[in-house]
Amino acid sequence: MSISLPRPTIFAPATATGRAGVAVIRVSGPAAGAALRALTGTGLPPPRKAVRARFRDPDAGTAIDDGLALWFPSPASFTGEDVAEFHFHGSRAVLTAMVAALGGMEGLRLAEPGEFTRRAFDAGKLDLTEVEGLADLIEAETEAQRRQALRQLSGEFGRLVETWRIRLLKALAYAEAEIDFPDEDLPGRLVDSLRPDLERLIEEIGHTLADERRGERLREGLSIAILGPPNAGKSSLLNALARREAAIVSAIAGTTRDVIEVHLDLGGYPVVVADTAGLREIPVLSATADLAAAQGQIEAEGVRRALARAEAADLKLLVLDATDREIEPAIAALIDADTLVVRNKIDLIADPKNRLSEHGAALAQDGKGPYPISVRSGAGMAALLGAVASEVAARLAGGSTAPPITRARHRRAIEDCQGALIRALAAGDLPAELFAEDLRLAARALGQVVGRVGVEDVLDAIFREFCIGK
Ligand code: GDP
Repeated sequence: MSISLPRPTIFAPATATGRAGVAVIRVSGPAAGAALRALTGTGLPPPRKAVRARFRDPDAGTAIDDGLALWFPSPASFTGEDVAEFHFHGSRAVLTAMVAALGGMEGLRLAEPGEFTRRAFDAGKLDLTEVEGLADLIEAETEAQRRQALRQLSGEFGRLVETWRIRLLKALAYAEAEIDFPDEDLPGRLVDSLRPDLERLIEEIGHTLADERRGERLREGLSIAILGPPNAGKSSLLNALARREAAIVSAIAGTTRDVIEVHLDLGGYPVVVADTAGLREIPVLSATADLAAAQGQIEAEGVRRALARAEAADLKLLVLDATDREIEPAIAALIDADTLVVRNKIDLIADPKNRLSEHGAALAQDGKGPYPISVRSGAGMAALLGAVASEVAARLAGGSTAPPITRARHRRAIEDCQGALIRALAAGDLPAELFAEDLRLAARALGQVVGRVGVEDVLDAIFREFCIGK
């Protein structure tokens, strides 16, 4: 006979390590109350009220620090278990002493990454979309990311998906009744009666999917590729954008061989700017593997990466040297509606406007700009930044009022649901069993979004995103 052991009680710092005014340790599990009593030498405080506490080492009886203790008895706690929280001065020494004191107690162990949130999920306190919203809120770097994460943590998206799933489950129940009590006289009646609502559902789902990946892009940061011929000033521009030395700036052509990324906050929106290797015709390698060829090969690889990067980017900044009269056709071919054309080094030319016409009308035709700038003097930089910021906002700002899809995982599942539904309705006189099977698959796909079914394999990956103490 197996006996079920009580869940281990876990503890972990909830605040980042380092020097801080206050640090917090959380304890969750059946031994949380005993830990609180042992550490404070007093009884349990009233639930959910902060009380002054003198923390002491339970074995030696020596004082550790003065602080606050809170008690959240099960089930009204983050994890649904008994939870104790200790607030103390945030030095390494106090933290180390507190961790040592708790670690020495019977039945307590340090939490694994995401374990608190995992317990909250297991207790039904959060669905999976809310767990992901919480992870995003902890990771949020910009204002727009914070807003989106908070919205998802509030459960809005999970509820939307859940209402879809419930509609599907009702249709499924109806279909199953038809299988159990078939109406021989009226074939196809089943699908016909359910068709209007299922068609509406397909439309609603399609509307949510047709969001240009705004939510996902906001979560990840809009990707901007800086490209252009060698020496045009791409690295210098990236540095100016980042206001720090993030890329190697050098006057030798082709030194930026790899892709360098800088994360920026542009008006509350996150962007990831990548400086790519200088674009030039890929050198033809000679048969002899001399040093030049080897260097050429490295550069060719850089060019290949730059092109791949440019293709994947949401927005492109094509940097040209304003003193160049010619643009290589291969570079001109990159210009599209997502391209801002930048003419750098206008400090070197007497009359920027005159030279502009020489670059030809082709520049202005497809792309936006050209924006005349000098990274060196700073001229035109404010106008360029303003233009980039508004392009970014246009791509990330809320499209519809519906809660956005923020992860590829959600998108895949919702697309699977849509596919199964379309299949179910397209087949016309499908036997009721097959129709029901497609509905079941559609509902199951949605169940994966909120974490109701078939998510065991993704759970570990999701909770690993958290660090210890979350
Ligand atoms: P990249 O190869 O396109 O990344 O170009 P870099 O950023 O390495 O710049 C190439 C050279 O041009 C460096 O010597 C820079 O100092 C110089 N440069 C960059 N921007 C300007 C500018 O606005 N005016 C002038 N005069 N020189 C610049």
